[in-house]
Amino acid sequence: MTLEPMRGALDLPCVGRIGLLLPVVRDADPPHVREGQARRRLTLLTSECPCGARIAPPNRPARRAMKRDLARGGGLWEVRVQHEPDCPAGDPRLDEVTSA
Ligand SMILES: [Zn+2]
Repeated sequence: MTLEPMRGALDLPCVGRIGLLLPVVRDADPPHVREGQARRRLTLLTSECPCGARIAPPNRPARRAMKRDLARGGGLWEVRVQHEPDCPAGDPRLDEVTSA
């Protein structure tokens, strides 16, 4: 996976050996995109969205894959959050913003 297409839309702060790929809230984006990105960012940092959605813990196969990746020096793991239907962070159009 290359991160180059996501330049400007994602942020990569690191804590020790762990990096978090976070959405960026850009002033130029429309209000609904800014709100959605802010909520996604908050969810990744706190594990909970203002809509009440939480990051689900990884299942057993995912935990095994994470251990395997860590033994090899690292990996990129995606988390899924099921936002409420009216939550701006759940808008699938935001996925296009971060991958454009
Ligand atoms: Zn939400």
